[in-house]
Amino acid sequence: MHETGIAMDILKIVKEELERIPSERALRVRVKVGRLMAVETDILRFALDALKKENPATGNAEFQIDEVPVAVLCRSCEHVSLLDDWVFMCRDCGCRDVVVTSGNVLEVTDMEVQ
Ligand SMILES: [Zn+2]
Repeated sequence: MHETGIAMDILKIVKEELERIPSERALRVRVKVGRLMAVETDILRFALDALKKENPATGNAEFQIDEVPVAVLCRSCEHVSLLDDWVFMCRDCGCRDVVVTSGNVLEVTDMEVQ
């Protein structure tokens, strides 16, 4: 399952952060997941809750998952469109020469530690 791999990546980021701070445990973790990652947040949450117990550093962590919408920048008119489907084109001029500016992220944005 795709979400299990992403949950493992998130937990890895959290563990690296804990070493960097350094701190013992994560209490609250806020994660940003771009919609381009095509993640089912319910499944991701389930996977995180199952996998976090494998390590005492993350065992009690509560995860908050924020979904980031996909946005594209048009190369001809520079309009930024938020996409609610998988059609990659400018909503203003219809041009398909667009660059993804958000929605492809997977990051830990905030962490409360103990
Ligand atoms: Zn355009």
